[in-house]
Amino acid sequence: MAHIIASMVRPALFLIVLLSLVQARAQTPEASPPAAPVVSATAAPAPDLATQPATPVVTGTVPVRITYSHVNVDGPYIAMTFDDGPSGPNTPRLLDLAAKKHIKLTFFLIGQNAQHYPDLVRRELAEGHEVGNHSWTHPVLSKMSNDAIRAELQKTQDAIVAATGYRPTLMRPPYGALLPKQRLWVSQEFGFKIILWDVDPLDWKRPGPSVVAARIIAAVRPGSIILSHDIHSQTVDAMPEVFDTLLAKGYKFVTVSELIAMDKGPVKKKTAAAASATPATNLATAPAQ
Ligand code: ZN
Repeated sequence: MAHIIASMVRPALFLIVLLSLVQARAQTPEASPPAAPVVSATAAPAPDLATQPATPVVTGTVPVRITYSHVNVDGPYIAMTFDDGPSGPNTPRLLDLAAKKHIKLTFFLIGQNAQHYPDLVRRELAEGHEVGNHSWTHPVLSKMSNDAIRAELQKTQDAIVAATGYRPTLMRPPYGALLPKQRLWVSQEFGFKIILWDVDPLDWKRPGPSVVAARIIAAVRPGSIILSHDIHSQTVDAMPEVFDTLLAKGYKFVTVSELIAMDKGPVKKKTAAAASATPATNLATAPAQ
């Protein structure tokens, strides 16, 4: 009897070991990349509406991350970003506010505006902020050919280099619209990291400074990349409250490149699954916190 049981158990054990090996292989990051939230960039005419998933690119065995909407950091670090400028009336007073609070910001510039306000681009860099490329004319890049995308980005790089001598290493696609294969191509062509966001106060709808401030303050978490626009006066009007409140909560404002330099890598699987179950930070539909 014992012999019969033993002869049944041995193959069963072998099968279990084999199955667990197969399962372990299926769970390696290479074999099953984490599920990514679905993008709905086409639904609305909103600028910078969609939050798109990070796209790890595997070179050899080390995944190189090219897209960031949030950074996994140890500590209360966040990056406040301002798109579509520089703006003659608004950017100088935003820079004044940031200087007063010793806060570092990141500006994603429209090439035409950078060409129009080279002094403001120089001032942004001189005061310790970062500037990135946000295209020349703010088109929907995901609908364009590689050649047309290259022209949009190159012209803007050239304008920023001409104004400052600095060559940006970050780009943000207008509306967050850039297909995964385009992101890879853009990153290879220009050496850019592609920067999206995890906090969107929908400030372009001009809901009033206090609403803009409240939405940002409610949604920020360590490692957040906050989207906003320095071409809207209400957004700049909201910043004293945003800066004061977040500083009082212990947050530290750094540039996007500084935030990425603190990246601890992908969050562990359990946390990632929990995070993807949480709705994206589209505050128009999210409940108030
Ligand atoms: Zn924009």
